[in-house]
Amino acid sequence: MPYIQFLGAAGTVTGSKHLINTSSDASGKSGFQLLIDCGMFQGPKEWRERNWQNSPIPAGQIDAVVLTHAHLDHCGWIPRLVKQGFGGPIYATPPTIDLCGILLPDSGHLQEEDAAFYNRTRKSKHNPALPLYTFAEAQACLQYFRPVQFGQAQQLCPEMEFRFVHAAHILGSSMVELTLKSNGVNRRLLFTGDIGRVRNQNVAPGKVVHTGPTEHETADVLVMESTYGNRPHPKEDPRPQLAAVIRQTVQRGGTVIVPAFAVERTQKFLFMLKELMESGEIPRVPVYADSPMAIQAVEIFLKHTEEYSDTTRELIGKYGSPLDWPGFTFACTPEESKKINDSHDPSIIISSSGMVTGGRIQHHLAQRLPDPRNTVLFIGFQAPGTRGYTIKSGAREVKIYGETVPIRAQIAVFEQFSDHADPPELLEWLHTFASKPSVTYLVHGEPDASSKLRELMLSDLHWEVQVAQYMQKVEVR
Ligand SMILES: [Zn+2]
Repeated sequence: MPYIQFLGAAGTVTGSKHLINTSSDASGKSGFQLLIDCGMFQGPKEWRERNWQNSPIPAGQIDAVVLTHAHLDHCGWIPRLVKQGFGGPIYATPPTIDLCGILLPDSGHLQEEDAAFYNRTRKSKHNPALPLYTFAEAQACLQYFRPVQFGQAQQLCPEMEFRFVHAAHILGSSMVELTLKSNGVNRRLLFTGDIGRVRNQNVAPGKVVHTGPTEHETADVLVMESTYGNRPHPKEDPRPQLAAVIRQTVQRGGTVIVPAFAVERTQKFLFMLKELMESGEIPRVPVYADSPMAIQAVEIFLKHTEEYSDTTRELIGKYGSPLDWPGFTFACTPEESKKINDSHDPSIIISSSGMVTGGRIQHHLAQRLPDPRNTVLFIGFQAPGTRGYTIKSGAREVKIYGETVPIRAQIAVFEQFSDHADPPELLEWLHTFASKPSVTYLVHGEPDASSKLRELMLSDLHWEVQVAQYMQKVEVR
């Protein structure tokens, strides 16, 4: 029997890796082995340590990778897989490939910087501290990427083909509809990746990509994310409250620091700030987008017009490129980034990583967390075990670069900017299914989130639903 094995994002929200083996013998050796997503583990050390282990399936025996989207918890382990001997094609949508082209080298670069920092300050137990992969290694893996357009059928092997359909999560994000032929029968497997907000624009202000994942799906086996399985999003418009937080911070003479994913989330937030400034709801303070790929990120964002929602199209028509806005600065070099540190006038700083697991946001927070005039503004999901989660949860101190930093800044959390569907939205989407899957496996959720979503699906849909376990193998019947 062909089987699926959950090699990551099972029992946690990071490290997405799902293996499909077409093998008909129990050893699995004879089958075609496909990996859907190849994400990095982030958050608790117990999970992060798995990034350093060998692939549970020898990398050289994996035949292909299909990638749902460009978030690091879905693609960030690709350079490591290649380093361990993977040499097959990596299929992704064109926007996802563009995003990976800057995000993966950036991820390698950050790891080199962090390792160098630890070696300089001798703060690591490991001597010397090493990067998981380097900038050059990440760049080298880009040669394996192969573009596949949404809706286009792509043959993988005689028994399997797939096509991408819209997930509406971030730019280029897709679900994978996989058709698997076994013993003369075709089975449809649907891997959702991360699922965006469902339809109604009002519940997701500033949403960039067209609203809603592809509806009326059919699947025999559904492998579905459950990040927000236990938490409905607030429904009210966050903008008035957001404006109030920014105004108050500026009045105190403080700075607003926003940890955000560098592509899309940052641009979406920039457009929102621009609108609030133009309407006079917030003062015109300097805004810094601080990322080594700040300019490229805007360019990719503006390139993929086919992905926009009507709102995004209107905003771009009205305001043009953020690169031309007065008062908005895009810092790419370390020197430009350091200059932001020197400024003590009120400003807004947006920097990555979004969960403070690495990147320049660490410098900004180390410098500005101890000052009660400042505000840290969270607009994205924070996985347990990440620094972002610690700060968001009201801790009084946090370790950054091995130093204990006291947290005296104000903390503001907005869940409305989420790019994940919440439970009512997920159910709304599942109700559009043309037929009921024979089994659903929930992945990509903390245990409580997955089990709450399972209960909801049982009572609302009466489907067979299981929570996937790490390393578990399930037969595709
Ligand atoms: Zn994602």
